[in-house]
Amino acid sequence: MQDTSLYRAWAEVDTAAMRHNLALVRRVLPSHKQMAIIKAEAYGHGITGVAKALDNEEIEFFGVATPSEAQKVSDAGCSTCPFILGPCFPAEREMIVQNGWRAALSSIEEAEHFNSLGRLYGKKVNLHISVDTGMGRAGLLPGNVPILADKLASYDHLNIEGVFSHLSAAADDISFTHRQIRSYEQSVAVLRERMDLPYRHLCSSSGVFNYNAPSTNMVRLGRILYGYSPMPSPHNRELQPTLTLYSRVTLLRTLPDNHGVSYNHTYVTTGPTKVATIGIGFGDGYLHYLSNTGARVYLNGSYCPVLGRVTMDQIMVDVSHMDKVQPGDIAEILGPNVPWEELTARAKTIPSNVITSITGRVPRVYKG
Ligand SMILES: *Cc1c(COP(=O)(O)O)cnc(C)c1O
Repeated sequence: MQDTSLYRAWAEVDTAAMRHNLALVRRVLPSHKQMAIIKAEAYGHGITGVAKALDNEEIEFFGVATPSEAQKVSDAGCSTCPFILGPCFPAEREMIVQNGWRAALSSIEEAEHFNSLGRLYGKKVNLHISVDTGMGRAGLLPGNVPILADKLASYDHLNIEGVFSHLSAAADDISFTHRQIRSYEQSVAVLRERMDLPYRHLCSSSGVFNYNAPSTNMVRLGRILYGYSPMPSPHNRELQPTLTLYSRVTLLRTLPDNHGVSYNHTYVTTGPTKVATIGIGFGDGYLHYLSNTGARVYLNGSYCPVLGRVTMDQIMVDVSHMDKVQPGDIAEILGPNVPWEELTARAKTIPSNVITSITGRVPRVYKG
């Protein structure tokens, strides 16, 4: 493993835990293939490192958001094909066709353009039809699926390899989710009358343990791969966290009574207070929204509350209750003792927002 002795903030990524989480999903859904979602720097874990770690795991596709993320997968030398999850604007399509990456198909206009690019480069373009069963973000409305299906026969450079949709409220609205599943199943039936569709996928992390879409044969794994399940399930306790964010104490001081701490003095000491300054801030992804929320770090075996506002590069924590603290000591900022869920609740955001906020300044260290 890398030497971390000069790092002031770093994320340790446990790739063995990632493989464990993948194996768990495979045990629960043995007849489904998997797409591993590694967009947004693999949810903060680092896209290149995660792509390399999972490339030999017999995963069907790496789900990415953009062609530039797909390029990172290629540049890492991975053989797992990138799948671009959302729509792409016209100028992005050429590199998709040239590289043989997979893309979503949301409209007849896209189909025509991809087909002409396929002709230009003498390649079959592999696409998955995206159906908007209720997300309102991309895809064909279900009523337009038969219209596209009829046209597809005339596009000789397209290979329609799959059909998918995305659930919009799987963790919160079960009856709407069942409507989306029914709508998806209807579109799949319409399409399968006309073509072979080797890849059929609907559920991502909030769906895999809780819903069954009978025609599907692949799941898209984002958060669950990284140890977080958005819905209650007996399988959740078997998931393992995959990322621990660390930082170091840079300075220790005792501030006198009635001394403001950090910008705007939203915290003022109520007595002599031993304060440790820690080398992480919102410039590293420790959200500013965590200011004055009771957020805490785990340092030398005990919890230390964050005092006042989070700044760009530093936070201050109360260590008055501790006698053994020194500059250089390691604080756990996010990890087994300070779970993802805890920071999510305090920052009043969603889990993916916490984890994707870890910035490029933070080195990723891979183990396992
Ligand atoms: C991001 C994304 C996912 C992954 O979602 P998780 O809930 O993190 O598993 C799956 N499918 C699509 C279309 C996405 O955009």
